[in-house]
Amino acid sequence: MLDRRQILVALGTTALASLAPTTLFAAATIKPDDASALLVIDVQNCFLPGGSLAVKEGEQVVPVINKMAKAFSNVVMTQDWHTPGHVSFASVHSGKKPFETIDLPYGKQVLWPDHCVQGTDGASLSKDLSIPQAELIIRKGFHKDVDSYSAFLEADGKTSTGLAGYLKGRKIKRVFVAGLATDFCVAWTALDARKAGFEVYVVEDACRGIDNQGSLAKAWADMAKAGVKRIQSADIAVSA
Ligand SMILES: [Zn+2]
Repeated sequence: MLDRRQILVALGTTALASLAPTTLFAAATIKPDDASALLVIDVQNCFLPGGSLAVKEGEQVVPVINKMAKAFSNVVMTQDWHTPGHVSFASVHSGKKPFETIDLPYGKQVLWPDHCVQGTDGASLSKDLSIPQAELIIRKGFHKDVDSYSAFLEADGKTSTGLAGYLKGRKIKRVFVAGLATDFCVAWTALDARKAGFEVYVVEDACRGIDNQGSLAKAWADMAKAGVKRIQSADIAVSA
């Protein structure tokens, strides 16, 4: 006789398997194809240990991304790329400190320490990234008065970076997002990718968050609501 727990497990497995076999048994079964692209978001010195806006454990995403990238023939990287005195820097707003917010014409803006200034070492991509096939680097946040967390649209919600057009021109249908930081540039990129009509996966263990006042939980909730799929790097099949 089966005990109660075994019955519940058996029932649960059957019921769930019939509902969502691909998500339940996804371990190493996602095989990126020619219509898939990996988006590597902002793996730059400023966001890594020792950087001016270091994301906790940020360096841990690098080996995960390097390994996962082997499964992709299409890889796009992004670089936060600000003017000196950029509007997102707390230092240009008198009396304001990093991580406080202000109201700008396009909405609420979190203020940051100065970071990723064009041409500086802090703005360089991590030298430990090893993705030679990466085909495009999108720079964003280069308009002095507008921030751009997203790789697709600036923070005004309408100025395009051109990435959606590029991906569509290359017949990409699904994007996998990894990098820094989960709750800002990764999440905004994933949400805009959904709005642009892509199938979107965020690879959780290939990202790290900042988590300013609950922003990490909110980002995951917003992404789930938008139909972004939350996966782990182990779900992606990388041939040896
Ligand atoms: Zn920035």
